[in-house]
Amino acid sequence: MAENNESHDIDVETRLNAILNTAVDAIICINSHGIIDLFNSAAEKMFGYTSEEVIGKKINLLMPEPYAGEHDQYLARYERTGEKRIIGIGKEIIAKHKNGEVFPIELSINETRLNGRQLYTGFVRDLRRKSRAELQVIEFQKYLKQMVEARTSELTEANKKLEELARIDALTGIANRRHFDEVLKNEIGRASRKNALISLIMCDIDHFKQYNDYYGHVSGDNCLKMIAMCFKEKYWRSIDLPARYGGEEFAVILPETNLKGAKSVASKLYYRVNDLHILHANSKTSDHITLSIGIACVKPVKGYTSKELIEVADKALYRAKENGRNRIEFYDFTC
Ligand code: GH3
Ligand code: MG
Ligand code: MG
Repeated sequence: MAENNESHDIDVETRLNAILNTAVDAIICINSHGIIDLFNSAAEKMFGYTSEEVIGKKINLLMPEPYAGEHDQYLARYERTGEKRIIGIGKEIIAKHKNGEVFPIELSINETRLNGRQLYTGFVRDLRRKSRAELQVIEFQKYLKQMVEARTSELTEANKKLEELARIDALTGIANRRHFDEVLKNEIGRASRKNALISLIMCDIDHFKQYNDYYGHVSGDNCLKMIAMCFKEKYWRSIDLPARYGGEEFAVILPETNLKGAKSVASKLYYRVNDLHILHANSKTSDHITLSIGIACVKPVKGYTSKELIEVADKALYRAKENGRNRIEFYDFTC
């Protein structure tokens, strides 16, 4: 029977130890002098001490000042007067880790009497520790943030593409009129501020109406695409802008370029289109597709507009048409 009782006691102790050491909260027992006699695994983790290091030491080891200094008196006063501040009540206070760091805890103390001795058991919850639900919320927020970031970068990419598309002519793939207008305005402003030159080349396909009438609109479109290829070639500086001005007209903005430079670019275009040798049986000018080209070169003063520069280049183009097409004419307002 005695043996049975003994094994029962061992069983209970083993179970109690298992409970103590699997508890999420720190559990610390002290006697009436504030000496620690139990320190579970969660307490070891929370305070950074092993139980061997703290058992037999005073509980105020785990408190920052001024609480550490006041604790002895508090215990003595409680034993004397029964005046409770934490015991049986529970309170949020500050604790001290082995490394000196202080942290908030929720402490509740249970009082028991065993063999005439007063024992106190403290249950300590680290208030920095998040509950599982809080951790789930944090994880979910992280996931949401990642989703939003991914969607934002997709949208930014899509917007960039849209912006690009808004500047490109759908048929030929070169800059469209909208982009041309924007750049020309900016470049004229820049030239007038810097007292610099700017040239504009306007190109018009000769007898293109007849081409369409003779070969059909689809062939007309293909012809425009082929000519646009000449405007895509790599003889531009990065600041130059070739564009489809409209219909069968193409234009090139050449910032900081004098007439000589503009003529050289225009003649390259002229010959490249000639060299394509796109047959045009119905042209009164040649047996193949040709360009008439007008160039304007100006040093714009403050207030000079895109419209004015376009008008001058157009005038030169008109002169090329008047003089028999398939040629380059120019106006130089820089002398
Ligand atoms: P000119 O030598 O005086 O320039 O005569 P032209 O026939 O080239 O000029 P006109 O302005 O009389 O006609 C331009 C033609 O360009 C009319 C139009 O059908 C054609 N055109 C304009 N845009 C397009 C297009 O996107 N595709 C096709 N296929 N044709 C177009
Ligand atoms: Mg035209
Ligand atoms: Mg034309």
